[in-house]
Amino acid sequence: TKAQRAYNFNAGPSALPLEVLEKAQKELVDFQGTGMSLMELSHRSPAYEQVHNQAIANLKELMNIPDNYQVLFLQGGASTQFAMVPMNFLPADQKAAYVLTGAWSEKANKEAKMFGDTYVPFTSKETNHNRIPKLDELTFEDNTAYVHITSNNTIFGTEWFEFPDTGDIPLIADMSSDIMSHPVDVSKFAMIYAGAQKNLGPSGVTVAIVRDDLLARANIENVPTMLRYDTHVKNNSLYNTPPTFGIYMLGLVLEWAKEQGGLEAITKRNQEKAALIYDVIDASNGFYRGHAEKDSRSLMNITFRVSNEELEKQFLAEAKAAGFVGLNGHRSVGGCRASTYNAVPYEACKALSEFMIEFQKKNS
Ligand code: PLP
Repeated sequence: TKAQRAYNFNAGPSALPLEVLEKAQKELVDFQGTGMSLMELSHRSPAYEQVHNQAIANLKELMNIPDNYQVLFLQGGASTQFAMVPMNFLPADQKAAYVLTGAWSEKANKEAKMFGDTYVPFTSKETNHNRIPKLDELTFEDNTAYVHITSNNTIFGTEWFEFPDTGDIPLIADMSSDIMSHPVDVSKFAMIYAGAQKNLGPSGVTVAIVRDDLLARANIENVPTMLRYDTHVKNNSLYNTPPTFGIYMLGLVLEWAKEQGGLEAITKRNQEKAALIYDVIDASNGFYRGHAEKDSRSLMNITFRVSNEELEKQFLAEAKAAGFVGLNGHRSVGGCRASTYNAVPYEACKALSEFMIEFQKKNS
């Protein structure tokens, strides 16, 4: 019998591909003839190391990561990266630039200020973070240690599609909510990091992709061992016990992404999925109102309001009753949000778009 799958639009943790879950289920109590679950294997065993190294190799292949980058599997979520980045890469005699396009960039900036000086070249706060800056709106001061951006703003539903050329200044991106959703030129970034729980796998593992020349600049004298990138580089992310099951699941998601045809194919499908919903918003004559400006619209998190609050409550209640999960906007913004990550099927987006059309018909 086919598994009953919800229309899952959760923002994170979010949908995983059914094929991945079924493979994990099959292997759960006996991983490849070991007589043990993957969770029970030593992280020093050849069977686990194979899983670990294959996941790194597949991520490099899918994202086309050049050889002068290290791929790390860390713990503590993207939130720990907010602190680790400045702890390692913000020296006392420099400042870091934080482009503020949403709540997560604000949090990253707040953490950095505990370790050094930062400045804000741009914030979209005045317009409730409804847009990404145009590249000519950004200028960086001399003596900038790095520029930090949030490539997709999960809460507000905006996404960067072009990235600033920062010259010699390292560009660091929190890609937690759009990593692997479309091809990016990794060579533009000194570092990319992402919590896994949206496009990469379950929560519990955080991916960091760090360029060698940035690692070489790290200022690590008083940084605790676990919070130094070089510790994890030197030990292939096996300094201590890694989140083995999460890395295994991430590996299965990467295999799945390859079977989908890689990032070119995945981004095409993501564009089609998002268009289903944005098109309904745009054709609704104001019944639905998108939060983000059109050219900043995220393909991963679609944020919108229904024309009045009463109807919005009704929309969310009826959607829930119809089997749509996770459509409530983030508590800090309100409204509605449909997260259409890689693993959300086209059919789920199609069903939501039809539900939205129907709801408008009945209520206007
Ligand atoms: N950055 C972005 C863009 C996010 O969407 C999130 C979580 O949703 C975080 C950071 C925080 O990630 P974590 O929960 O892994 O610490």
